[in-house]
Amino acid sequence: MAHTTAELEQLLMQRSLTDEQLQAAAGEAADFRILPAVTVIKIGGQSVIDRGRAAVYPLVDEIVAARQTHKLLIGTGAGTRARHLYSIAAGLGLPAGVLAQLGASVADQNAAMLGQLLAKHGICAVDGAGLSAVPLFLNEVNAAIFSGMPPYKLWMRSPAEGVIPPYRTDAGCFLLAEQFGCKAMIYVKDEDGLFSANPKTDKTAQFIPQISVSETKAKGLQDSILEFPVLDLLQAAQHVRQVQVINGLVPGNLTRALAGEHVGTIITAN
Ligand code: ADP
Ligand code: MG
Repeated sequence: MAHTTAELEQLLMQRSLTDEQLQAAAGEAADFRILPAVTVIKIGGQSVIDRGRAAVYPLVDEIVAARQTHKLLIGTGAGTRARHLYSIAAGLGLPAGVLAQLGASVADQNAAMLGQLLAKHGICAVDGAGLSAVPLFLNEVNAAIFSGMPPYKLWMRSPAEGVIPPYRTDAGCFLLAEQFGCKAMIYVKDEDGLFSANPKTDKTAQFIPQISVSETKAKGLQDSILEFPVLDLLQAAQHVRQVQVINGLVPGNLTRALAGEHVGTIITAN
């Protein structure tokens, strides 16, 4: 049943904001996609950018070619420098919100470097990708780079244990893709996708081409190739109902994934 604005307003004035009927009414008009033609890609920090030129240059070439036919929002991970900062800050007894700020500064550094590499192609790093001029950049050059850490800073939700911020760059990129109603979310990392165990330490690990969130959790893989909150974000998402994890060290993989090919692992909401 479609509610009129007046009916919704009446519910909003009278009920608790978590009232079931109110939420159902408010959700009825929720399927507007802000940037439906855009694909968000996350370039891994530790897995890709920290490898330097050998890993980054070929991806830059693929991005430059891909943006002829695709609209791309390119998020950056943080990686080893962030882990170093986390170890120092945690040792100093600082809280998750402070560590989140430190991690964000490293994702910023990676966005700045990627921005310099793509500058001659007219592709810029944008400050805080919360829209502003992003649609203009997408219209003009089909791409923009952003720093992948979500801007929770001191408002970072505390982890169940310890002080490592749970919502880092995998989550930040997913949240942006979902809020903008984007077409797809691709994680570019350094393994062929999800395996039954970490392939870096377990040579018997089996590759998993496709899996749902609940199967991933049932196999105990909720905190493996993606930060663990991403699975819950994916399950609750309205628009982005699957993510793809690909090996960015293999030339052509990003191009193939953008073309809709099933390279890597596809994790589905259900
Ligand atoms: P990013 O650079 O985007 O932060 P991470 O380094 O955090 O990426 O995550 C990718 C890493 O996850 C891979 O390099 C791999 O070693 C590790 N990993 C752990 N468990 C798994 C698994 N079950 N399948 C695939 N990769 C895994
Ligand atoms: Mg990571």
